[in-house]
Amino acid sequence: MDHTTPPEIAVENPATLQVVASVPCHQVSDLERTVRDAAPAIAEWTSAAASRPQYLRVISERITARSEELARLLTAEQGKPITQARLEVAVAARAFEYYANLPLAPDVLRDTPEQEVVREYYPLGIAGLITAWNFPMALLAWKAAPALLAGNAVIVKPAPTTPLTSLKMQEIFAEVLPAGLATVLVGGNDLGSAMVAHPEIPKISFTGSTPTGRRIMETASSRLKRLTLELGGNDPAIVLSDADLPSAVEGIAAVAFRNAGQVCIAPKRLYVHESRFDDAVDLFRQYLDRQRVGDGSDESVTIGPVNNAAQHKSLLEIQGSVRDQGGTLHSYPHSMPDLPGYFVQPAVATGLAAHARLVQEEQFGPVLPLLPYRDVDDAVAAANATDYGLGASIWSSDVEAAVRVGDRVRAGTRWINQHGPAEIDVPFGGVKQSGLGTELGLEGLKAFTESRITNVKY
Ligand code: NAD
Repeated sequence: MDHTTPPEIAVENPATLQVVASVPCHQVSDLERTVRDAAPAIAEWTSAAASRPQYLRVISERITARSEELARLLTAEQGKPITQARLEVAVAARAFEYYANLPLAPDVLRDTPEQEVVREYYPLGIAGLITAWNFPMALLAWKAAPALLAGNAVIVKPAPTTPLTSLKMQEIFAEVLPAGLATVLVGGNDLGSAMVAHPEIPKISFTGSTPTGRRIMETASSRLKRLTLELGGNDPAIVLSDADLPSAVEGIAAVAFRNAGQVCIAPKRLYVHESRFDDAVDLFRQYLDRQRVGDGSDESVTIGPVNNAAQHKSLLEIQGSVRDQGGTLHSYPHSMPDLPGYFVQPAVATGLAAHARLVQEEQFGPVLPLLPYRDVDDAVAAANATDYGLGASIWSSDVEAAVRVGDRVRAGTRWINQHGPAEIDVPFGGVKQSGLGTELGLEGLKAFTESRITNVKY
């Protein structure tokens, strides 16, 4: 008999640093067993195309039925305000409902008396889904729903600091789906790496940082694995001189400080026409004055802690770099909570040069650089001057002019007079170093398939 205690991961509440729960830390042997156990389920699932949508609908209903429990757990493990956690749970439920209603029909490419060409979509087998800690529920749902609908089994590996809501999803999967079809394995980066290397997992869908995306691509290359990589961003927002400034600042700030700035598609650099710059700084001051920083489980809190110690340390260093590089942090001292957690004073920064660390790097936290420009060509050049290309937004009262500026910005999504959201029916992906492939929408479903052509001569 084996008496060794299986290793565990203690998940802490980032606001209080209290342990919320300790969960098993799965090992490579658990991965091997999961892959073996999936085989019979895959055989059954592949041939059940007609009934798969109904399974997804039931999953969506179960998420909704447990939404308050899930939202509270999400706030406890991730730190976000409870109001935002409720929205994320609703987004997850919506993803299963959306894909339940999305048919994956064959494409008839040619249909003549002489020839018929049809393209059909087949499942790949097991999809490995690796998620980040900023939106653990939404990211899981955006990957698992299309993967399952397409006929695959899934193995989910959440980030080690936010596994608890994913484990609740495992309970729902176990209630609804054939045994072995959808499994959540909790572990560190080495477990993710083992999934990417595993010969029986032909598809990896990953959301996380660009350096990890590169490592995944290297490991996956030996078996030419199918990859979807949703990576980091450093989204610019460009406010043109004729913009409705109060609504632009509200719209930008609402996303830049949402989830304490830990949003891949948050505006992370703001270029404001010099004629409006001082007014913009003042409007941000008013916005930040209205925020309440604290434990996200308090209904009145609008900005929670950042998720983990490494992110906290990185943000304190970035704030230090603002001062070291000649910038000014405008943090409008709200009362910070009397809690031990990973709180960062929300701030905007001015006086930074284009090469400053806060401008070039993805800060992933509640600190936003504001940069004045005179000529819109300079703003566009600056917006394009990073390796990232996830999203961008242009703000103007002249929508056509804004679209023309947006045309010149190299980003996977260009928003006009809004920044975000990512929407379930709109394909989403980054260009340049922000990603590879597409998630969401019909393309996000096809990403979990291989297409095969049948070409008939009559
Ligand atoms: P991360 O890359 O450190 O980790 C993400 C996940 O990958 C975790 O589950 C982690 O355990 C796992 N992992 C780490 N190393 C691995 C390896 N070598 N092989 C396989 N798996 C491995 O990222 P993070 O710090 O958790 O997340 C923050 C980043 O995610 C930010 O850069 C953010 O912009 C990005 N993000 C992007 C999107 C998008 O849709 N583009 C969405 C959310 C977050």
